[in-house]
Amino acid sequence: MPESRLTDRFGRTVNYVRLSVTDRCDFRCVYCMAEDMTFLPRQQVLTLEEIARVARTFSDLGTEKIRLTGGEPLVRKDILELVKEIGSYGLRDFAMTTNGSQLPTMAEDLRRAGLHRLNISLDSLDEDKFRRITRTGRLSQVMDGIDAAREAGFRGIKLNTVVLKGRNDEEVPELVDFARRKGVDITFIEEMPLGQITEHDRGEAFCSSDEVRDVIRQHHDLVPATEDSGGPARYYRMPGSKTRVGFISPHSHNFCATCNRVRVTVEGRLLLCLGNEHSVDLRRVLRGNPVSDDKLQQTIIDAMDLKPEKHHFDLNGDVQILRFMNMTGG
Ligand code: SAM
Repeated sequence: MPESRLTDRFGRTVNYVRLSVTDRCDFRCVYCMAEDMTFLPRQQVLTLEEIARVARTFSDLGTEKIRLTGGEPLVRKDILELVKEIGSYGLRDFAMTTNGSQLPTMAEDLRRAGLHRLNISLDSLDEDKFRRITRTGRLSQVMDGIDAAREAGFRGIKLNTVVLKGRNDEEVPELVDFARRKGVDITFIEEMPLGQITEHDRGEAFCSSDEVRDVIRQHHDLVPATEDSGGPARYYRMPGSKTRVGFISPHSHNFCATCNRVRVTVEGRLLLCLGNEHSVDLRRVLRGNPVSDDKLQQTIIDAMDLKPEKHHFDLNGDVQILRFMNMTGG
């Protein structure tokens, strides 16, 4: 595999791309989407072949890690075909972020298609609270999905929890114990101000990673993990358990200096930063050059110059980023 040919103006090497494969989702999580969302018309959405071309081109440019996300990647028709295709590129790491609802029937096939790792979102262990946060989700389905994933033998499974004051913050110790029992990792995420929501006040619901860590420390010793995840999460180990606890803290600990990633939305917008609007239209290049990927390669290389040094999130209610996380590809 070639060394990454993607370097930005600040000397950071980009070797990780997150591809959104759909903006649609069967859940309507309160921090992620408005209750009644309008989704993109089909012609604006990249075809699976176009997504595969993007993935292949990044891989040819030395990208070692690809994550498929959305929306909910498992509601995209024929997603297994795409997983099979990307699974054949010999990536060092090939992962997916999912809400878990389709895993009871798909986990085994995903593993066989070449997917290495899964992140499964889980914000509550209480059926009612889970329903209130996801608006449409059924906890039992996700629980079955987690078990199906464990049985399928993925290289790694991680739970993702967005912590909101007054919604699920008091469940943090139980969620850690659940992860320990299941033998999976868990990451607690601070809510990010992406998209205009009316359901709650982001400032009031904000729960910092420091607060979450303090709560966990009342139950378990947390020892900083020495290995570098290469991502924004900072990990801790607990003596006597294989489970690692991670924290993603875009507000309280800016992780831009080591940012190694870019995102591609399902419309083919190459986003150079989660918290800025800098982007390049890859769909135009894909559709204008249906045979050769040379122009696509050069466009991606040139786009690195646009990667901003850092993002600025604040909690005062001003939404700087209008796109929702389902559009961004979380
Ligand atoms: N549907 C999949 C899922 O539920 O994991 C993948 C897409 S979802 C947008 C990816 C991750 O982003 C989830 O873990 C979700 O909790 C997180 N997320 C969505 N909106 C967020 C926000 N405003 N702040 C922080 N995390 C968010």
